[in-house]
Amino acid sequence: MQTITVPDYYPKFKCIGPDCEDTCCSGWWNVSIDHDTYLKYLQSTQPELAPLFKIAVSKNKLPSADNKNNYGMMQMKADGECHFLQEDKLCAIHKFMGAQALSDTCRLYPRYLNQFGAQREHSLGISCPEAARLILLNPQPLKFTSIEPEPSIDEKPFISYRFPLQADGDPEQISVLDDFRAVIIAILQYRELSLGARVMLLGFLLEEVNKTISSEKFSSASELLPALESFLGMLGHPEQIEAQYTKIETSIPRKLQIVAQLITQSLNKASSRFKECLQDAFEGLETDAKHGEMLNKFTQNYINYYRPFFQNKEYIFENYLVNQVITRLFPFTRGSYLDLYRELVGNLAVIQVLLVGIAAKHKGLNDALVIKLFQTFARNSNHNSGHLDNLIASLHSVEQDSFVHIMWMLKETN
Ligand code: SF4
Repeated sequence: MQTITVPDYYPKFKCIGPDCEDTCCSGWWNVSIDHDTYLKYLQSTQPELAPLFKIAVSKNKLPSADNKNNYGMMQMKADGECHFLQEDKLCAIHKFMGAQALSDTCRLYPRYLNQFGAQREHSLGISCPEAARLILLNPQPLKFTSIEPEPSIDEKPFISYRFPLQADGDPEQISVLDDFRAVIIAILQYRELSLGARVMLLGFLLEEVNKTISSEKFSSASELLPALESFLGMLGHPEQIEAQYTKIETSIPRKLQIVAQLITQSLNKASSRFKECLQDAFEGLETDAKHGEMLNKFTQNYINYYRPFFQNKEYIFENYLVNQVITRLFPFTRGSYLDLYRELVGNLAVIQVLLVGIAAKHKGLNDALVIKLFQTFARNSNHNSGHLDNLIASLHSVEQDSFVHIMWMLKETN
């Protein structure tokens, strides 16, 4: 089997099990069960587990259910915990039946196992707190390396995201699209630019590529190469890009309004840890203050409590964005480039506004508060299909349909 491309953080990850502050065995999320495991559980006669399998395992009735990867579903207890989580914070299925009895979801979490053309790629999601620390707190730009296949992970074929959908694709076309992805990551990691300017430039690149591939004359991915070279060339003139960024309009009141709306929609599905973050943010943002007062306070809190922490730690947001690109095979896997860009910018804006609120409540930020927000936000949004729909609908309702009309959300203060 060929080697697997991974980000440099990947080989360092180790689940911390009982020491984990937000175990993945809890949290009201949808834990799908693959078909083979579903049958194994229902046929089990293991005395401690068989009665629990009867109440905890059911057939997946969601429209997205298939006959293979998510055939069944694990029902959580009323408090959101998995029925098999023991007092020692270890898994009873693992204890009584061994690691090989775990479903693909439990065996592989928090990994993303992707296939890009003929290349296998593994990475980690930040909804796991230990992975979030490893990924986000590294001041060095994320790099890639290769590893040999991991028997416990790769013994059964499982794909999180695949591009192209049906086969490995034409190697020449795939190679150009891989260059496209490399340019996206190069832009996001270009530290001569402010983060907002980098994400603005990414929007212009997506718009340009979208224009090319939507043209009736488009026939080969190689037609993208001039645009990719041109955008790489622009990185030689950061001052011009920053000047363009300063011209983007700012509207913090609209941003606060959209974020408040999104959070209200998410609250009933939020885990208790995420609710703690939202509660802190709401108190810090003083959402019940009069309009002008709230805006003034937001600006003061941004200057006094948020900016001092992030002025030398913008890499946390950079690492977040680059990891989103890697784990989701951005921008190839689903939806239009415009909707994917809306999601990226919208999520960034929500996280940033919440962190200003949390910073105000705690009179400053530290790594633990920041990781808690990123991690719980990821768990709430990545595993909640309604989040993306709400986000896109909120931005659609006030925006015109173009990349540039989303960019105002990137501005952090007036
Ligand atoms: S969330 Fe991560 S560290 Fe915590 S128990 Fe799950 S895999 Fe382990």
